[in-house]
Amino acid sequence: MIKQKKRGSLFVLSGPSGVGKNTLIDTVLKRNTDIVYSISATTRKPRIQEKDGVNYYFLSKERFEQMILENAFLEWAEFCDNYYGTPIAPIEKTLNKGIDVIMDIEIKGAKQVAQRWPDAVLIFLIPPSIDELARRIKNRRTETSEEIDARLAQSLVEMNVGRMYDYYLVHDNTEHTVLELEAIRLAESLKVKRTDWDLVIDSLKGDLNA
Ligand code: 5GP
Repeated sequence: MIKQKKRGSLFVLSGPSGVGKNTLIDTVLKRNTDIVYSISATTRKPRIQEKDGVNYYFLSKERFEQMILENAFLEWAEFCDNYYGTPIAPIEKTLNKGIDVIMDIEIKGAKQVAQRWPDAVLIFLIPPSIDELARRIKNRRTETSEEIDARLAQSLVEMNVGRMYDYYLVHDNTEHTVLELEAIRLAESLKVKRTDWDLVIDSLKGDLNA
């Protein structure tokens, strides 16, 4: 029997800066071809190796504010002096095709998604320890020391918000954490509320008549 999914599921991944959301998502996308990454828009400058339209849509402040006025975002927020937002059109299109979407957004945005999209699955990624988080941010060498301090301070605030999420994952070993994320996805796909039950019954009858 083919799974009778109503529509794709939206997975929202949040967690403190430096916890390794990108690494985790990259690994999930490599191992699973049936899930799509939501590319956010931001006003922050691209880091070396980041590409427009791949990692983010890098926009001017004016363009971003115009998109806010056009209601083009599912959610948006300010984070460390920059705007970040999720364009809504590609997400709706993908979910309506029955394909899952994963997004990496900070906590204020995740709250907005939870309100607008109650079916979204909220996953909070935490580091094995705060010391390890500080070490990872410093090793990344993409921020100035002031920016690192600001991000670490923000991380501690964010940790407290983890309690509003549906699931949490500890990012100790990427392979292991990806398996846990895939287990969440599998469990969510088996939820009756995400299933068109009439189609399940029809397909059972189909099996009988065959
Ligand atoms: P970074 O500058 O390190 O790429 O991202 C900074 C923070 O912005 C991260 O916590 C990331 O999850 C968040 N972020 C990335 N895209 C979005 C988005 O579209 N909306 C919101 N609200 N946060 C985002």
